[in-house]
Amino acid sequence: MNDLFGLLGRKLGHSLSKYIHNEVFNLLGKDAFYHLFEIEPDSIDKVLIGLTAIGAVGVNITIPYKCDVVKYMDIISKEATDIGAVNTIKFENGKMIGFNTDYFGFKMLLEKYKIGYYGKNITILGNGGAADSVLQFFIDNNCKKINIVTRNLHEAKLKYKSKDVIICKYSELDEIKNTDIIVNCTPCGMYPNINDSPVPLEVFKNYQTAIDLIYNPTETLFLKYAKEQGLKSVNGLFMLVAQAIAAEEIWNNIKIEEEIINKIYESVLYNQQVG
Ligand code: NAP
Repeated sequence: MNDLFGLLGRKLGHSLSKYIHNEVFNLLGKDAFYHLFEIEPDSIDKVLIGLTAIGAVGVNITIPYKCDVVKYMDIISKEATDIGAVNTIKFENGKMIGFNTDYFGFKMLLEKYKIGYYGKNITILGNGGAADSVLQFFIDNNCKKINIVTRNLHEAKLKYKSKDVIICKYSELDEIKNTDIIVNCTPCGMYPNINDSPVPLEVFKNYQTAIDLIYNPTETLFLKYAKEQGLKSVNGLFMLVAQAIAAEEIWNNIKIEEEIINKIYESVLYNQQVG
């Protein structure tokens, strides 16, 4: 049997993961199969047990199960423990090992676009799963001041009570000055709601760089505003590819060359633009 990989989530109709991983298998000359598993909420544990039993090599986990699967892991990596979410599982000797490659994908995005982060002041919009990976990365890399902007102040204050962060509401955004990077970790502006932005144009005057984790459309209204205000602006497509590559490296115990990552990124970008 070909090596079995896949993605576990609730609704996967628009997922690019199968395309990305099949590109990796082609470029690496691997006989492997990547399947999209749409799972009902009460059966994730049974699916994981089944995949272990049939000898699957690894899976990715997406919305809404990244936090739920943590409790089923036999071993969990440091970044996934700190974030409290797993998006990549490796099955090894009947055990499940959990990782969070969104964390590594975000790091690779910053490095590709030469966005410096040491000692910087950061604003993160949103407080969901993606925001948690981005936040943990900035905490681990000595960023100076981190603001989290949320619609639900009370919930966010509880959630981040052990982290050294400032939590504020969207209405307080204008009071945040001298900040370097703003990251959109909300789905606001994602297809089909392409006329939405989580923040208005005038917010961007306080920043040097804007990153939107959204990759469809490739230029969101958030990034259009950022460009208009002269900011360096980057979307989330490279992060999406990079987190998939990081998962492949973990599953296959290999290092994938930058040239292959760039080839896959170009192919996904082309596919996205013509698709
Ligand atoms: P999530 O766990 O559902 O969290 C979404 C967050 O956005 C929550 O804090 C939510 O706030 C907030 N939010 C939702 N709609 C909003 C709106 N209209 N205005 C302001 N805030 C809003 O989702 P996620 O997994 O973190 O994903 C967030 C985005 O990142 C998605 O677009 C996803 O596609 C993208 N993403 C990209 C990558 C990549 O590799 N590029 C990886 C992961 C995620 P409330 O709690 O107040 O509802």
